[in-house]
Amino acid sequence: MPKLDLDKLARPAAKSGPVGRQQTTTTTFKRRPEVVAWVIEYALQKNQGKCELCKRKSFTTLKGEPYLEVHHVIPLSENGPDEISNAVALCPACHREAHFGKDKEELKQQLYARIKRREEQLLEAGGERNP
Ligand SMILES: [Zn+2]
Ligand SMILES: [Zn+2]
Repeated sequence: MPKLDLDKLARPAAKSGPVGRQQTTTTTFKRRPEVVAWVIEYALQKNQGKCELCKRKSFTTLKGEPYLEVHHVIPLSENGPDEISNAVALCPACHREAHFGKDKEELKQQLYARIKRREEQLLEAGGERNP
């Protein structure tokens, strides 16, 4: 990758000016809040609020809970189901990596294994597959 010239970049960056605003429109998939709630609660109760990928705790929120984000292993945009069997709780760093990292396919395989095990646990516990 070609290196950028820092001095060249610094000139316009060093200028101060008013902060502009821009309006954006984003299209997002509607996610079922009960799936998000279950996945987060599961991580808090069964994994001490740790990320399901790196197994570390992220920062603590104002509410005093470990911060986690819900990620769909098979993306909703690829018709992945919005179910607990397709959702994991990740720290923000792992979540970004799962979307933009060069090893995202490898991470996906690790997460597949993870949700498969959890699904087996749920079935053993007599839980419903599709709540
Ligand atoms: Zn993580
Ligand atoms: Zn995600």
